[in-house]
Amino acid sequence: MSFDVKNIRNDFPILKRKIYDKPLVYLDNAATTQKPQSVIDRISKYYAEENCNIHRGVHSLSQEATTAFEQTREQIASFINAPGKEEVIFTKGTTESINLVASSFGRKVLRKGDEVLITAMEHHSNLVPWQMLCYETNAKLKVVPFNDKGEIEIATYRKMITDKTRLIAIAHVSNALGTINPVKEMISLAHEKDIPVLVDGAQALSHMKVDISELDCDFYCFSGHKAYGPMGMGVLYARREYLQTMPPYQSGGEMVDRVSFYETSFNELPFKFEAGTPNVEAVLGMGAAITYIENLGMENIASYEKELLEYATNKLNAIDGLKLYGTADRKAGVLSFMIGDIHPYDAGTIIDKYGIAVRTGHHCAQPVMDSFGIPGTIRASLAIYNTKEEIDILVEAIQQVKKMFG
Ligand code: PMP
Repeated sequence: MSFDVKNIRNDFPILKRKIYDKPLVYLDNAATTQKPQSVIDRISKYYAEENCNIHRGVHSLSQEATTAFEQTREQIASFINAPGKEEVIFTKGTTESINLVASSFGRKVLRKGDEVLITAMEHHSNLVPWQMLCYETNAKLKVVPFNDKGEIEIATYRKMITDKTRLIAIAHVSNALGTINPVKEMISLAHEKDIPVLVDGAQALSHMKVDISELDCDFYCFSGHKAYGPMGMGVLYARREYLQTMPPYQSGGEMVDRVSFYETSFNELPFKFEAGTPNVEAVLGMGAAITYIENLGMENIASYEKELLEYATNKLNAIDGLKLYGTADRKAGVLSFMIGDIHPYDAGTIIDKYGIAVRTGHHCAQPVMDSFGIPGTIRASLAIYNTKEEIDILVEAIQQVKKMFG
């Protein structure tokens, strides 16, 4: 399939919607992306033809559903180039994936005085679990600051790694600033001291090739719904050696091998970490989303989004009084900005009247906003179906905001 944005738009039924009688301009992709028809169809097909609980039945329907579910695990493992499919754990999203690691791995390794290193641009999901774990274990949370452009400086990062660092947790791409962090280099520096690294890939998976083997990371987390897939499913990739020694995160059915009233032995990987009935429809839907992405080609996606980001950056920079937050040299399609000192919520209300969906607020990254001394930003975030014309409509709406509040 060649990259033709008009055709792509036709694949997403919601883009035909009108808001206030105007065509929907959906620029809230960092919160969640829209879903192509193929993903919607895959979910319907599951319920119309295949619905059954998996892993437990000998009857045909259960076996078919189990096969489809496990084939999707293989498809996802291959998409992210994970060394083994048993290292791909299904969760309900990035947040749960990080909590799994904090709760199981973190509790096992952290002792009083140890350190967990994160960056100052983390989403609350990659901050609060570590903060709570540090309270609980009397460990210390250390935060690598970012510079004025919203970049992590490697020299600063390197200095903050100490002999007490037990775990490093970093965003691949910042949801608030769009910065693409040099995670490969950051992982390699951590590994010089045998420190495991967790990468929060929630904002990366749909924008760039994620290659677990090349990154050599120990834990990688993402959510299906931010990559054209359904809500309620996510992935934790974790290195086999860690998974083998980590205690289960949740207990109950499916994660067990043999149970008596007094003793339980656990199932093999990955099932040891998948207690209860999983979200089968969402996993199958995610398989369809990955097929969709692969048909478009990740290189085509990345180069189209780069062009769109450049166009949008130039257009927004040309608006008098508008200030962009996050101007890193390597950026994904996130434009976070303030229009003078107009409160983002006030601006967002006017922008909405143009049929434009942008996010306003702190984007679950309050410390990022605190570091700039602002209440929040307006955030436009891009995806494969956005167009230059839509950016022009956003610019028109911003001009209107200026007129009304100016
Ligand atoms: N990390 C980042 C960088 C995110 O952008 C998000 C979602 N905004 C999350 C984690 C949490 O993802 P979810 O809500 O799907 O668990």
